[in-house]
Amino acid sequence: MQYQSTRGSAPTLGFEDVTLAGLASDGGLYIPESWPAFTSDQILALAGLSYVETAVRVMAPFVAGSLSEEELRELCTAAYGRFSHGAVTPLVQLDHQHWLLELFHGPTLAFKDVALQLLGQLFERFLSRRDDHLTIVGATSGDTGSAAIDAVAGRAKIDIFMLHPEGRVSDVQRRQMTTVRAPNVYNIAIDGSFDDAQALVKAMFNDADFSSRFNLSAVNSINWARLMAQVVYYFYAAVRLGAPERQVAFSVPTGNFGDVFAGYVAARMGLPVAKLIVATNVNDILHRALSEGDYSQGQVVPTATPSMDIQVSSNFERLLFDAGGRNGLALADQMRGFETSRAMRLTNAQREGAAHLFGSARIDADGMTMAMRWAYDGAGQILDPHSAIGLAAAREAALDPSIPVVTLATAHPAKFRDAVERATGTRPPLPARVGDLFAREESYAKLPGTFDAVTAYVAERATPRG
Ligand SMILES: *Cc1c(COP(=O)(O)O)cnc(C)c1O
Repeated sequence: MQYQSTRGSAPTLGFEDVTLAGLASDGGLYIPESWPAFTSDQILALAGLSYVETAVRVMAPFVAGSLSEEELRELCTAAYGRFSHGAVTPLVQLDHQHWLLELFHGPTLAFKDVALQLLGQLFERFLSRRDDHLTIVGATSGDTGSAAIDAVAGRAKIDIFMLHPEGRVSDVQRRQMTTVRAPNVYNIAIDGSFDDAQALVKAMFNDADFSSRFNLSAVNSINWARLMAQVVYYFYAAVRLGAPERQVAFSVPTGNFGDVFAGYVAARMGLPVAKLIVATNVNDILHRALSEGDYSQGQVVPTATPSMDIQVSSNFERLLFDAGGRNGLALADQMRGFETSRAMRLTNAQREGAAHLFGSARIDADGMTMAMRWAYDGAGQILDPHSAIGLAAAREAALDPSIPVVTLATAHPAKFRDAVERATGTRPPLPARVGDLFAREESYAKLPGTFDAVTAYVAERATPRG
């Protein structure tokens, strides 16, 4: 499989290079040159397969040329063996039409584990082949940091430096990062906000010398391998609910558009997806883009769903490219315009290309609370705030009752205990496997939020190239 950039002027690359590169050299995102197509019989043959076997079948075409099926199976077995549920991503029924797909049974209780556990395995495999080394640098306001650290802790070819704003992530989130003891993991609490931490990371990547000396890499959701790993659970869930004979709809709590784009990929591969509902909180740029064609950036409003408090969705570019007719140079122009004016109109082709499959909804705090109560009262299910936004959008969509609607549950409710308690009156306990989180010893550096302080800290501890 070869991959091309959404902006039309970077070289096409194979899966191994795309995984290690992240962003394309022309500033675009990598996407397969064509979608592998599954026949009804191939989808039917997924019935009864384990998560790992489903993953091997669904991902094999994407990694062809870089990994054999046997290698892929080995990496998936290692990645998903760390999940605490035998089904890896189990389905739970809420009523006659609505279902939850629980994506939070990984080591850090967030759906990001599904992709990052595999990415950690892929990095290690590819770096060993090349005898190369990576330095991952990131800023986190919560979930991505802990999932990334867990995925690469103890790996010989990788060091990870994770910046978080001091005092501004929850206790659970901080401890999930700072209690990981491995010689290649460095947590840094920055005196400043999340935006300050992110600006520092950007500045390190923009310093060409520093960036190439330490082979800096990011683990954000623009990495194709992360998206690919997420395609699997759409197949896995839909097959259990009757695909390929029956259509299934999905509602996805959305931030950077990675998770829901994976659903689009599944549909392009032949999975009978009736609808993909993009659920946003009041930071609704995607809802405006999909319903009115207006992709214009507003101010970020902080909410109880921090992983969706986003005003630019990096993976949306992939949809604009594919649904809009795959014209990379035209899209590069359009994106440059957006980067200058922070606003753009979708073209008619982009709107029509998306309209077949996508619906969207903007859910405010009341809508979120009502969905949480509905799931708790009707099915005894405690939802985290992000999943509740997804469920509220799923119910609002009022689809034909013959179509099962699956809401993606993206975080364990215990990660957002205060918000859940406010809505339902119940404080969800931490699951037993992370129950000793508050007994473990923390370790992290506290640094001023300056470029010099942070680069000096990294340079002293990271492994230079060659
Ligand atoms: C990251 C995240 C999301 C958003 O996913 P995207 O792929 O960025 O759209 C939703 N919910 C939770 C809990 C997350 O951590």
